[in-house]
Amino acid sequence: MAGRDRMGRKLLNNRQFNVAIVGAGNAGIAAAAAASRRGAETVLISASLDAVAHLGHGPFYQLRELGRRHGLGGILRQALERSVIDHVVTDGQRALILDGSIYQGYWKQALEREEKLSLFQDVVDEITKNGRGWSLETAWGLSLRADTLIIAVGAFMGVRTVLGNGKGVSARPREEGDKGLEGPLAEFGANLLRTRVEISPTVHARSIDWARVHGSGENRGRAARVGGGAGVLLLPTSKDGNEIYLLRAGKELRAHAEHQFWRAIPALRNLEAIRGGRAIEHLVVEESGAADQEPVAIGDTLYFAGRVAGAAGYEDAMAQGARAGRRAADVSRETWQ
Ligand SMILES: Cc1cc2nc3c(=O)[nH]c(=O)nc-3n(C[C@H](O)[C@H](O)[C@H](O)COP(=O)(O)OP(=O)(O)OC[C@H]3O[C@@H](n4cnc5c(N)ncnc54)[C@H](O)[C@@H]3O)c2cc1C
Repeated sequence: MAGRDRMGRKLLNNRQFNVAIVGAGNAGIAAAAAASRRGAETVLISASLDAVAHLGHGPFYQLRELGRRHGLGGILRQALERSVIDHVVTDGQRALILDGSIYQGYWKQALEREEKLSLFQDVVDEITKNGRGWSLETAWGLSLRADTLIIAVGAFMGVRTVLGNGKGVSARPREEGDKGLEGPLAEFGANLLRTRVEISPTVHARSIDWARVHGSGENRGRAARVGGGAGVLLLPTSKDGNEIYLLRAGKELRAHAEHQFWRAIPALRNLEAIRGGRAIEHLVVEESGAADQEPVAIGDTLYFAGRVAGAAGYEDAMAQGARAGRRAADVSRETWQ
């Protein structure tokens, strides 16, 4: 372990926080920004700091409104301005396509500048109730306490990759997932159910026959719609445009049919995959009537936000995170005042 890291751990060990957040995806970062900006001493622990603010490759809707509504305006606006590549219009809604690495880099730097926020790389593998609050233990032996806890572990709880070339037990390469939080969480009243999400492949831009790509309406060029009604959108994943995500709306992924499906589209006949299509199964906490942008709360000190709370996309994940962060900060304020 590097010296600086060891020092950071010593400083954090046994510390008491107002709000602890597990997982730094879109839900976790929104929760962290919202809680710390409300004055709460906040800790955000995530398995990989390289994956802070990680996005899939799908388009981002309502980014501007989200920022305004949830008090994340400054960070979100800047992250957006720096990382936007293009936009698409789907179902009459305009959405942005972002360069994920630029978006992530900006968020990470912005969070590191937040005065009341400690950001830490580790896997939380044990949670216990500690009076009204919570104790957390990590894989590296760190022990923390917090008045309120936000679980934002994305698709990592009980994860299983079930199709394609990414077989394994992590939702993303190089990110160690959750190791057994489901037991303790069930004990504290979380009803966990298994769900499944389908992910399309990313392919080399050079393997697409662009002369056969016919954009429609505002969707032209690289962010184009192809396939004569097949509903496939080509979305670049970074500003250099070398990698393209094939977004296929509302279709079940079937391992055997996958290959044929793409190659039946004239512009995609010679596709070379970078990452194949796959499906991921994982646990979510039962929503118990929560709205799309509402976090799931168990009592007033435990919250679930993001994919683990059933959020369908970035926007819901962020809105749930920001709401959970604000609420957790307000509940813990009763303790620190
Ligand atoms: C493979 C995949 C692709 C998707 N693509 C899109 C898309 O293109 N567009 C879209 O709108 N939505 C997409 N979604 C839905 C997506 O879940 C949400 O959009 C949103 O980004 C989820 O954010 P999150 O914060 O809940 O989770 P995540 O972004 O997954 O973040 C959770 C974080 O928690 C960390 N973590 C997990 N367990 C622990 C632990 N025990 N201790 C410490 N850290 C832990 C993980 O390492 C991870 O970094 C996709 C989902 C999946 C699974």
